[in-house]
Amino acid sequence: MKITIVYDNETSRKDLTPDWGFACLVEAHGRTVLFDTGANGAILLDNMKGLNINPESIELIVISHAHHDHTGGLSDFLRKNSKVSLYIPSSYSIPPDSAREVIVVKKPMEICEGIFSTGELQGFEQVPYGDEIEQSLVINTDRGQVVIAGCSHPGVKNILEAASMHGRIRALIGGFHGFSEFDLLKGIDIVCATHCTQFKAKIKSLYPDTYIEGGAGLIIDI
Ligand SMILES: [Zn+2]
Ligand SMILES: [Zn+2]
Repeated sequence: MKITIVYDNETSRKDLTPDWGFACLVEAHGRTVLFDTGANGAILLDNMKGLNINPESIELIVISHAHHDHTGGLSDFLRKNSKVSLYIPSSYSIPPDSAREVIVVKKPMEICEGIFSTGELQGFEQVPYGDEIEQSLVINTDRGQVVIAGCSHPGVKNILEAASMHGRIRALIGGFHGFSEFDLLKGIDIVCATHCTQFKAKIKSLYPDTYIEGGAGLIIDI
């Protein structure tokens, strides 16, 4: 399987634009899935072009949560390709005719063979704000589960626990926000802390062998 970060706060490539937000393309189990859409449609589509990603090749879109830095590029994308199945959390709303089908996700579910949503999760410690209720993506591989998170507002711990119902966690990729329970990353083969992660440097120093630097243009082939 292959994961390509399309939209991120940083990039090491001069031909791609960095911007606060997150989107990545997942190619796995014969399917092509866009997870989140960044904040700005023009940047999303331009970065896709730079990465040779044809928007029409995308069949499924999964939106992690209702924050603009994850949803802002969606309407421009749908103008290019509306023949997608769109999986949104119930805290985000979009007219049902915006895509080929719009699926509102609440409970954990199988999106397609080998690709799952954790379902909507929310943090237990903070006051739950509707727009911080979030779903994460779990992709099945031979050597464990690959987990992709938008901002991890529900907490990395909750996300990893929910994903564990599918088996051992092999990789964790995405925005970890203020996550600081660093011991939870022990035993994970690949950690790519990007987007809004506050303690990137700390995570990198604790897990130098498994840490991968994020950024738009990063391709993880696993
Ligand atoms: Zn975010
Ligand atoms: Zn957020």
